[in-house]
Amino acid sequence: MLRTHTCGELNMNYVGRDVTLSGWLQRSRDMGGLTFIDLRDRYGITQLVFNMEINPVLCEEARKLGREFVLSASGKVTERSNKNPRMTTGDIEIMVDSLTVLNVSKTPPFTIEDNTDGGEELRMKYRYLDLRRKVNKKNLELRHKMAIETRNYLNLQRFLEIETPYLIKSTPEGARDFVVPSRMNAGQFYALPQSPQTFKQLLMVAGFDRYYQIVRCFRDEDLRADRQPEFTQIDCEMAFVTQEDILNTFEGLAKHLFKSILNFDTEVFPRIPYETAIRLYGSDKPDLRFGMEFMELNEVAKGKGFRMFDDAELVAGINTQGCGEYSRKQLDELTDFVKKPQVGASALIYIRVAPDGSLKSSVDKFYSSEDLAVIALKFNAKPGDLILILAGKCNKTRSALSELRLEMGNRLGLRKPGHYKPLWVIDFPLLEWDEETNRYYAKHHPFTAPVPEDIRMIDQYLSHISDNKPVSTSLSEQNSGQIQVPVDLENVHANAYDLVINGVEIGGGSIRIHNKELQKKMLTVLGFSEEDAANQFGFLMNAFEYGAPPHGGIAFGFDRWTAIFAGADSIRDFIAFPKNNSGRDVMIDSPARIKDEQLKELGIKLVS
Ligand code: ASP
Repeated sequence: MLRTHTCGELNMNYVGRDVTLSGWLQRSRDMGGLTFIDLRDRYGITQLVFNMEINPVLCEEARKLGREFVLSASGKVTERSNKNPRMTTGDIEIMVDSLTVLNVSKTPPFTIEDNTDGGEELRMKYRYLDLRRKVNKKNLELRHKMAIETRNYLNLQRFLEIETPYLIKSTPEGARDFVVPSRMNAGQFYALPQSPQTFKQLLMVAGFDRYYQIVRCFRDEDLRADRQPEFTQIDCEMAFVTQEDILNTFEGLAKHLFKSILNFDTEVFPRIPYETAIRLYGSDKPDLRFGMEFMELNEVAKGKGFRMFDDAELVAGINTQGCGEYSRKQLDELTDFVKKPQVGASALIYIRVAPDGSLKSSVDKFYSSEDLAVIALKFNAKPGDLILILAGKCNKTRSALSELRLEMGNRLGLRKPGHYKPLWVIDFPLLEWDEETNRYYAKHHPFTAPVPEDIRMIDQYLSHISDNKPVSTSLSEQNSGQIQVPVDLENVHANAYDLVINGVEIGGGSIRIHNKELQKKMLTVLGFSEEDAANQFGFLMNAFEYGAPPHGGIAFGFDRWTAIFAGADSIRDFIAFPKNNSGRDVMIDSPARIKDEQLKELGIKLVS
């Protein structure tokens, strides 16, 4: 045995015992007659002592060892005279009587400490060294615990963990596919799954009725800060269920994780319809750790001669309690904030409520104190409050106000770390109209079922296209009356839901279509020709002809959920070997060119 114990477990109970520890040299210190080495492994750090008087040869040898050398040391556990209460092993040290150097190490390119001196790119290149740092180790331990507890809960609920293939055909989840050329079928490609969506549905047709998998998914997207080309989902599906059953089952999973991992008790998760979330928070993933709901002001703000409000589709604001004393400078900062391109507002209007209740605004020219009082009353504003108002196009104003709300939440310390407010957002629209490509997209994915009462809208729409009448659902065209619109499919609701925690979408799912005809209709609405639909999804529609049970499911972003539980923003720190911002693994230097022979074998000719 190269060790009898780990570097994290010895304490006063072991004093007098002979032990052997193995690990990496974290730090060494020469103190005249004594040399100390901090030996580190996955479990902790233990101090080794070498005594010049007792064993000069060994002590000399110890002095020569460098950082990150791999050592195995044997000796007696002794009580320290100078205890370190911050270390779990801080009461003891090992008087070393024999030492083996298991391996030498070059000086690492950055310090293996909590506060390392290594930059991001360097640490990515030497990820195996970065992973030796305690923070990263803790992150992966948390991830492991999350996986275990997820499995514990789902197994108890009779879910089966079943693997689905990675070499498949496109599953549309809104990103591009990563493709893999097939040598045996030259000129043909597999796609890596964006999710196991179609396979889990087929498992329901097969009768497995409760499936899950902690599974890798691949999406070729432009990388935003918090995206990785490969990431992990807790992917689940159930048969013979309604939306209610799914929400209850997975609220149970969330509660179990909150309790078992964080010891955090959650209340019943609120269920907020999509439209309400958008109207009150300007977002389909609201942070409910604080209120500050939007108030729509069209009725009271328009018609007073203030152009910006009069021309706006929507005038809306928030009341920030206790900010009435904001200085000119602070208000200017907020104005700069809302004008940032990412936020996109053109101006910020404010109304202050002074301690005596009097109102002062940035638009006093247009609004009498009575007018302002009407607005303040809508917010139920109190002395010391500050009302912040934005105006413009409806969607843009809502999303800018959402950013402002979050900013004010941050400034006022209302987004408390360690506090969690999970909720369900329900009743999503089934479809989204895209002005640029002039077509509908599935808001969730093409397999999501419309609510039954809205199916007739789809039928009306389809009969309209089959009559070859011009079809447009773009609102601007509708309003200008240029084209007669049979039906606006953006009003069709889906049986779809998202789990949101603290302003982050953690997961989403839906009740699925399980009927071939309806699935065909949906694909037609999405612009698939009959042939394309059959080519891409024929296998699924055929399966629906052999007794597909009603089913539905959900998938959670596992990396993201872990990050949220650690109070972190980025998922990258919770993945052992992540890619950088350009989708590269800089450690193994991938993606990389392949040899000409390989290309030839695959029947691939590069154009450039
Ligand atoms: N496959 C979906 C996704 O990846 C989740 C689901 O509908 O179950 O978002």
